[in-house]
Amino acid sequence: MGNIVSGNLGYPRIGGQREWKKHIEAYWAGKITELELHDRLTEIRLGHLRLQRDRGIDVIPVGDFTYYDHVLDTATMFGLVPERFHWNSDKLPLDLYFAIARGNDLATASEMTKWFNTNYHYIVPELGRRDPRVVVNRPLMAYLEAQQELGVEGRPVMLGLFTLLKLSKGETAGQVDDWIEKLLPLYVQVLRELEAAGVVWVQMDEPALVVSLTEEDVRRLGLIYWTIAREVPGLRIMLQTYFDAVERYDTLVELPVQGLGLDFVHGRDGNLEALRRNGFPAGKTLGAGLIDGRNIWRADLDETLSLLKEISVLAGETELIVQPSCSLLHVPVSVAGEERLSLVLREALAFAEQKLEELTSLCEAASGEGLEPARFTENRRALAALAADPARSRVAVREAAAQAAVAPAERASEFAQRRLKQQAKWLLPFLPTTTIGSFPQTAEVRAARQKWRKGEWSPEKYEEFIREEIRKWVEIQEKLGLDVLVHGEFERTDMVEFFGEKLPGFAFTLGGWVQSYGTRCVKPPVIYGDVEFAEPMTVNETAYAQSLTAKPVKGMLTGPITILNWSFVRSDLSREQVAYQIALALRKEVEALEQAGIGMIQVDEPALREGLPLKRKDWSNYLDWAVKAFRVTTSSVLDTTQIHTHMCYCEFEDILEEIRALDADVISIETSRSHGELIHSFEKQTYPLGIGLGVYDIHSPRVPTKAEMVSMIERALQVLDPGLFWINPDCGLKTRGQKETVASLRQMTAAAEQVRKNY
Ligand code: GLN
Ligand code: ZN
Repeated sequence: MGNIVSGNLGYPRIGGQREWKKHIEAYWAGKITELELHDRLTEIRLGHLRLQRDRGIDVIPVGDFTYYDHVLDTATMFGLVPERFHWNSDKLPLDLYFAIARGNDLATASEMTKWFNTNYHYIVPELGRRDPRVVVNRPLMAYLEAQQELGVEGRPVMLGLFTLLKLSKGETAGQVDDWIEKLLPLYVQVLRELEAAGVVWVQMDEPALVVSLTEEDVRRLGLIYWTIAREVPGLRIMLQTYFDAVERYDTLVELPVQGLGLDFVHGRDGNLEALRRNGFPAGKTLGAGLIDGRNIWRADLDETLSLLKEISVLAGETELIVQPSCSLLHVPVSVAGEERLSLVLREALAFAEQKLEELTSLCEAASGEGLEPARFTENRRALAALAADPARSRVAVREAAAQAAVAPAERASEFAQRRLKQQAKWLLPFLPTTTIGSFPQTAEVRAARQKWRKGEWSPEKYEEFIREEIRKWVEIQEKLGLDVLVHGEFERTDMVEFFGEKLPGFAFTLGGWVQSYGTRCVKPPVIYGDVEFAEPMTVNETAYAQSLTAKPVKGMLTGPITILNWSFVRSDLSREQVAYQIALALRKEVEALEQAGIGMIQVDEPALREGLPLKRKDWSNYLDWAVKAFRVTTSSVLDTTQIHTHMCYCEFEDILEEIRALDADVISIETSRSHGELIHSFEKQTYPLGIGLGVYDIHSPRVPTKAEMVSMIERALQVLDPGLFWINPDCGLKTRGQKETVASLRQMTAAAEQVRKNY
């Protein structure tokens, strides 16, 4: 075997106690000065470098740290500031940097969107009319700081130009080449300055290389990397990919870069196959992504070591870096402190800090000093204990899920027949009005939950409080004249956590936070065991709401795919099987609601689209089982029971087929922010089931006018069947205040009334 070292690609910024978030938010709130903020964040940044060094990582990334988002860092370092901020200076003030991400009094924020298939969201760079220039060489600053403060020779990380342009907006097809022409010299300038400062290697992140590439793309990639090689010949580039297998491996190995980083966890088969077929160029360095940077489980070190050996043989006499599959940004910081978990579960977890240890253990073992590192023994024991946990082998659940995968999941009748029966049963008016589920989670509601959780309130007292809220809002909804009511979801914090806490097979960490966007962090539940239904989870509140009114109350559940996609999932079972387990548990809840007299049930799937694989060719497999899981949840009900679903995105056209296949009687979709686009997609292909396009944007406190909603509804009715159309807001109202919510819904019901009259 060639030389083997350990390396990392990026470390979580947020800190073990989310101190990063707290400091930045304190600055925003005016509680600390800019200088104090710099001091505190510097301390965090250096702490992370020190930790990686002390854990024995050979290749330590620098420049991966950020004050908000690494894509925003890249854009602003080249002066890509949206024109509406009227920036005209040599310096980039910190407040301007934050304003691009968050908006200010003068201008709206830049868009934010998902970072590939992760739950991290980046600020979309805007390519305007102004020419870019190097405003600040961020990687250089990071490199020098690590060297001067800690004596660490870090490897600067940059977002590669190819990926940067793929993620940016504002350029049209023809202009990509213009932008390469503008930005490539700036990359060269930054790299030359790095070289001059003594940097040997640069990690150039190009995750876009795992998504399908056109011939144009390949040509542009060549242009970028041949230019860099020619202009900065002394610097070594590690072309780093992650999240899946690379496309066009043969092209990538011919590029004049000195290293190629591949993901052997999420792109294992594809990348291995490419190595087998083409080998690896002699003299180059292979970054072997072997430790999962997207999940929280301990790696199986024996298995990983043999994979490493196989890769090493395939790659020949080459330098190998044992590294995570991607930046550790996507996993929580440390398992230390998770005392609430069972010992077996706790010992089976590896967050960022523990993953560093796994890297060095593997590296040690592979470099083969004969002795096996102690960690291997510990690893085997922990994994064996996890495997033996009875929660992971509930035979009945396993069998039912396997069965669900092959058995049909169909409603008893086709939509046309169900529709007639439902019309006869519900006698809803033309253009019925409803809401998406939640009503304002006021400070009072949150305080009540805290008191109950801390034991200050008895469960009875808390339940009475929730009932009081339900009572109040049923009355409000009746006064507003809504046709289908909801109970308001006051008992729920988070739509996934609420169900996870009630379903065997889930566990919750105390500090398993990961960054979602900016300073916003999420703490995904852990699905560690077989998931099964224990007892009704929503019947109590829903039936109570129904007892207060003669109007139908819509039951409210989170769908199986959303629960799956917003959790950390066990890795010994396929996601498909886990989805069926959750679906079967939820189906029991659907049946319990139906039995309690709830005849309309909404199963939310806002995260269905998020789970789409990066490669188009993998979409249909995912969508097949995702749709099936939804149908497993919803298909066992009576024809008269009306199944609703809700999704909060408007990119819809490319999966319209599958959304139809969910066979939900009614779907509500978020649309008001790009209404035109969605309406447009229905011109080509109409929707044959019940549908409500959100008629106002709930993300803003602004009360919409009746007139604007009337015109929106009328436009929609030109392309959709009026007999199937529903009127509802864009999404749940839990983030809004009571006053604006009531005022907005009043305008909405008035708009419905008006359109009904006009018709
Ligand atoms: N029923 C949920 C609510 O109203 C839906 C939330 C969502 O779509 N993200 O809050
Ligand atoms: Zn929504």
